[in-house]
Amino acid sequence: MSFSNLGLNPLILKAIESSGYPAPTPVQSASIPAALAGHDLLVSSHTGSGKTAAFLLPSLQRLAQPSTLPGKGPRILVLTPTRELALQVEKAAATYGRGLNRLRTVCLVGGSPYAQQLRGLRDAVDIVVATPGRLMDHMQSGRVEFSRLEVLILDEADRMLDMGFIDDIQTIVDKTPATRQTLLFSATLDGVVGSLARKLTRDPQRIEVATPTQREAKIDQRLLYADNFSHKHKLLDALLRDTELQQALIFTATKRGADDLAENLFAQGFAVDALHGDMQQSKRTRTLQRLRDGRTRILVATDVAARGIDVAGITHVINFDLPRQAEDYVHRIGRTGRAGRTGFAVTLVNHSEKHLVRNIERYTGQSVRIDVIAGLEPSARVEKAARPRFNNNAKPGGRFSDNRAPAGRAPAGRSNERFDGPRSASPRGNGERAAAAPAPAWNSGFRSENRRPSAPTRRRTAD
Ligand code: AMP
Repeated sequence: MSFSNLGLNPLILKAIESSGYPAPTPVQSASIPAALAGHDLLVSSHTGSGKTAAFLLPSLQRLAQPSTLPGKGPRILVLTPTRELALQVEKAAATYGRGLNRLRTVCLVGGSPYAQQLRGLRDAVDIVVATPGRLMDHMQSGRVEFSRLEVLILDEADRMLDMGFIDDIQTIVDKTPATRQTLLFSATLDGVVGSLARKLTRDPQRIEVATPTQREAKIDQRLLYADNFSHKHKLLDALLRDTELQQALIFTATKRGADDLAENLFAQGFAVDALHGDMQQSKRTRTLQRLRDGRTRILVATDVAARGIDVAGITHVINFDLPRQAEDYVHRIGRTGRAGRTGFAVTLVNHSEKHLVRNIERYTGQSVRIDVIAGLEPSARVEKAARPRFNNNAKPGGRFSDNRAPAGRAPAGRSNERFDGPRSASPRGNGERAAAAPAPAWNSGFRSENRRPSAPTRRRTAD
């Protein structure tokens, strides 16, 4: 299938051509013709699937013809859960719509000054991309109305519901014309999202695309067990000295945690920034730009960065803290392995958090390999608590001293068992293989005197 078979306008095809996309992704092949035919859509799609173009391209096509309706409100409204995602969508709209005559987009998100947004709403606008809260503010002050609205898009609807936006969404939708086309994109179409979708759409076409398991095939996922906070820091330090690491995104559970960790890494000489929801939008935008420019090597962030960040240089995602929800894990690790590259996702786990790991594995349908870093194995005391289940016959290889049976090969006599704890890898336990394994290349500098990175390129500015 090629883009030219999808029924898109030549102006839009030209913009896609300059984006360098070789062919439509599955979600694009399925969604674009159906949306162009005017259907409402319910699409289950995940981050990295090309979903933004799937809803923007057919919607932009409408803008090639002038509106016949009076008013100056948007013809297309995109609702997103986060500011970062909104900015990303607005940027994509400008890219894909660059061939259209004087396309006007406005982004209405919290954390940005009202003045600039009000200026954007003064004249007729084609596309509004908004987070529900800020859009409601503008609606309440009568600055935006939807009499010309043709398409309503809900991007990452499941996430918006998780964030408690259901009432806002309902209020916003009630103010839009019943004649609109509705395109709802969500990681899942079950449960509450399903009921919302039924309320908002008319005779929708349902499109389901690749599962998280298929999508994350290019992301090498590992778990490292940590005995305590200090051990966790040592593991992180070793990971950050991986010579293959270009840029890393480290996730923490709290904003304070992100600031503290960034501070700590800065003190160690890393070129690091923090990103979280307490920061002004302008600062967040600048922080992301530095990451894109490659001036920041390490970004420590809360889940605010789990969606919408698309930076090809991110080779590593490190979960310093486990995500609260299994689904957030998928979004976090989706920040690496972008644009057809291979990514590496490492999760640091306390021994008391095995149940959270199991939730993630159940959600993704994949088990995540448990590894150790030679010299930084979890303590024998904790390892004894874990019940070894596998023969110690896995080949060492890859980046870590792999502490687990190779995928797809069940250990003798335990064909159907799931592994549910780290195995001993220390010389005091049954860790002969790990102890004997050659130090992985990325770890070779760990004990060396030269392991400190070069001086930071600039002062960290995120506090
Ligand atoms: P999304 O799922 O919308 O966040 O898109 C993920 C990434 O895929 C973005 O970097 C897009 O630029 C890129 N992308 C979108 N469509 C295609 C395509 N047909 N071929 C290659 N890359 C694409």
